[in-house]
Amino acid sequence: DPAIVWFRRDLRLTDLPALLAARDRSTRALAVFVLDDALLRPAGSPRIAFLAGCLRALDADLGGRLLLLHGDPVEVIPQLAHSINADSVHVSADFGPYGTQRDDAVQASLAAAGVPLIRTGSPYAVTPGRISTKAGTPYKVFTSYRRGWLDHGWRSPAATTADSLAWLDPAELPPLAGALRCSALGALPGIGDERDGPALPPPGEAAALRRWRTFRDERLTGYDTHRDRPDRDATTRLSPHLKFGCIHPRTVLHDLRESPSSAASVLRSELAWRDFYADVLFHRPDTARRNYNPRFDAMRYDAGPDAEAAFDSWREGRTGYPIVDAGMRQLLGEGWMHNRVRMITASFLTKDLHLPWWRGARHFMKHLVDGDLASNQHGWQWTAGCGTDAAPYFRVFNPVTQGERFDPDGDYVRRWVPELRHIDGKAVHRPWARGAAAPLFSVNGPVSADMPVSVGTPGYADTSAYPSPIVDHAEERVVALARFGEIR
Ligand code: FAD
Repeated sequence: DPAIVWFRRDLRLTDLPALLAARDRSTRALAVFVLDDALLRPAGSPRIAFLAGCLRALDADLGGRLLLLHGDPVEVIPQLAHSINADSVHVSADFGPYGTQRDDAVQASLAAAGVPLIRTGSPYAVTPGRISTKAGTPYKVFTSYRRGWLDHGWRSPAATTADSLAWLDPAELPPLAGALRCSALGALPGIGDERDGPALPPPGEAAALRRWRTFRDERLTGYDTHRDRPDRDATTRLSPHLKFGCIHPRTVLHDLRESPSSAASVLRSELAWRDFYADVLFHRPDTARRNYNPRFDAMRYDAGPDAEAAFDSWREGRTGYPIVDAGMRQLLGEGWMHNRVRMITASFLTKDLHLPWWRGARHFMKHLVDGDLASNQHGWQWTAGCGTDAAPYFRVFNPVTQGERFDPDGDYVRRWVPELRHIDGKAVHRPWARGAAAPLFSVNGPVSADMPVSVGTPGYADTSAYPSPIVDHAEERVVALARFGEIR
């Protein structure tokens, strides 16, 4: 009897232990992906378009034999297993809150029909829950997690080849509710057309490997020194590919194994963050929605029409702080944002606008092509101060000095904020400081050169299309610290 290989966040054919497990039981297999509305709904069109591209690439690699099923996996997977008289269903394990529950339900339903759900491997180098502190408790601090992670290590990439399985042709199956072919993907409501949205990275396994190898050979040297610079193309940009498993982190780690360079060690560390957050979410699934540190449950946030207007300005990249606006516009324009700028924009929302992290996290999850529950919610919580590592919670990023430090020539801001393109160099981070034909007055009086002006300031002489700062960072920093003080 044939095996079913149910693809989820592992849209590749090499180094896929679940394929090996399927081959151990059967010579024939059916490849399937379930379009599950519960997962599609929170994703914006760029991520869905990228997913659709990855599915088309996988389908092509399978010789056009990927079956798509639209529906609830808890219903459609057991139906499929029944209709082809499957021997077993194979997956890479999912450790997210939704995926765990879904898989348990599918497993129970399959078991009733005598078909095992076999979970082999995971999207991580070190499986969530695998390592713990000496006391046997989950890690709460990244640096100790990383030590345990390095000590534990990971397997070498599995030598899988899809050729060792004969793939069933979906066209020869009995009719199935919700079944469609990849060629029909674009017609599905909500999937849309890839050409409608931002320019996306090339999808699929071959593109992911190409991206990684080019980076490894041409830009890995320098990663450690330049990775914080949003004006440069200095990071791997593998996050969308890792999100959908077009490449496994093991492949990257394996290639880095013999490199003693600091660049290799920093990149390993970044991949450890990905595993760390998955581990944290596995142990604390509630933190997808709630504060990791419950003390923050008492945090006071702003609310009301002004807070809503501020949220809109942040979302649309109209805060009047150039690095924040550049980041928010990169998110809308590319479906991706540089890590340093993710931290700056998240800090701005939570500490300058005093809005809850989960509102920002939801906006990111909608627009990021790499949107990943564990990395996103915990990246947000870390920045907001309520997450792991008790990151100095009282640290409030200054959006102007951060901009000057990490975008020192202003190129990143000018790329994303055309209203400021006429300002040369790093002066672009302080547009209010420009010598101007018109006097610079805020509603509260004259504006000093190094202080952003208050809400309601009229436009600048040369930058009239660009908004004035919606808040005064120095004032909001004091407010943020006072509110932290209230919950200490
Ligand atoms: P590189 O610097 O090349 O790093 C290589 C890989 O390491 C990344 O692809 C990623 O898988 C992993 N990595 C790097 N930094 C981190 C980190 N801080 N946390 C977890 N993994 C990391 N990453 C996501 O993949 N999805 C998200 O939804 C996401 N949301 C974030 C939200 C906030 C507020 C913050 C501060 C960070 C978030 N990150 C998220 C982490 C990080 O910003 C991205 O992984 C990174 O910018 C992706 O670009 P890259 O692949 O070029 O990174």
